Amino acid sequence: MGQKGFFTDTTLCIGCKACEVACKQWNQLPDDGFRLTGMSYDNTGHLGASTWRHVAFVERPVPMPGQTVGLLDFSWLMSSDVCKHCQRAGCLEACPTGAIIRTEFDTVYVQPDVCNGCGYCVAACPFGVIDRREDDGRAWKCTLCYDRLGEDMTPACAKACPTASIQFGDVDELRDRAQLRVKALHEKGWEAAYLYGADADNQPGTGGLNAFFLLVDKPEVYNLPPDPVVPTMKGRESWRMAGWGALGMAALALGAVLFGREGRA
Ligand code: SF4
Ligand code: SF4
Repeated sequence: MGQKGFFTDTTLCIGCKACEVACKQWNQLPDDGFRLTGMSYDNTGHLGASTWRHVAFVERPVPMPGQTVGLLDFSWLMSSDVCKHCQRAGCLEACPTGAIIRTEFDTVYVQPDVCNGCGYCVAACPFGVIDRREDDGRAWKCTLCYDRLGEDMTPACAKACPTASIQFGDVDELRDRAQLRVKALHEKGWEAAYLYGADADNQPGTGGLNAFFLLVDKPEVYNLPPDPVVPTMKGRESWRMAGWGALGMAALALGAVLFGREGRA
C-alpha cells in the first residue's frame, strides 16, 4: 500500500477552517461547546479528542517578505495542525493493550473497541495530539480517514481544502513536492521557509513524520515543539547513562580498594 501522509504547506492556508469542518462532518465528531476562546479567530484552541484538525491563527509583529511595512507591520500565520502519524509514535509504543496499531498505509490508528482508556498514550505523545473523550473515557485522534483510504478516497480535510494547503499522497512523493516548494519560496525571497519533520534526518526524535509541515517561522510560533523526542528514546538514553554511572562507581570502588592496599603496604 505504501506510506501515506499529509504535507501541510502553511504558506497556502487562508484560515477558512473547511478542513476542520470536513473532518468533524466525516468522522461525526461532537462539537466543542461553541465557546469563544478570546484568542483571535481561533475558536477551538488546540487539537483534542473531538478536534482532529485544528487551524492555528498566529498574529506576529513581523511583515511577510515583500509586504508593505508601517501600520500593517504584522502578519498572520495560519496552520492546520493534525496528528503527525510519526514513524516512531509515542502513543503506539506506550499503549499497553495493543489498541494503537500501524496500518497497511503506515499510519497510526486507534482501535476504539480495544482502547481501555488508561491514557498512557496521552502522556507519551510529544505533540499533545491524542486525548481522551470526556463522555466515554477512550483515546481519540485523527485516523487519516482510514475508512476513506480503504476506498481509495482522499482524506476529508485534504479534499475540502480550497488552496491545496493540505496535500495527501505517498510520503516520498510529498517530500519531493515539498522540497521543490521550499526551493521556489527561497527563490521568491521567503528565505525563512523550511520543512518540519519531513524525515528522520530532519527530526531524529520521532524518526520523521508522515504528516509534515512547511513553516516560515520557528516551530514554537506555531505551537509545535522544536525538538520532539519519543519518550522511549529518552528511556534508552537513561539506561545508557545509568550503565555508565554504574561502571564509574565500580571503577571508583576498585580504585579505592587498590589504593587502600598500597597505602597499608
Ligand atoms: S503525533 Fe502523537 S498521537 Fe499522532 S502518531 Fe505521533 S505520537 Fe501518536
Ligand atoms: S481548508 Fe485549507 S485553507 Fe482552509 S483552513 Fe484548512 S488548511 Fe487552511
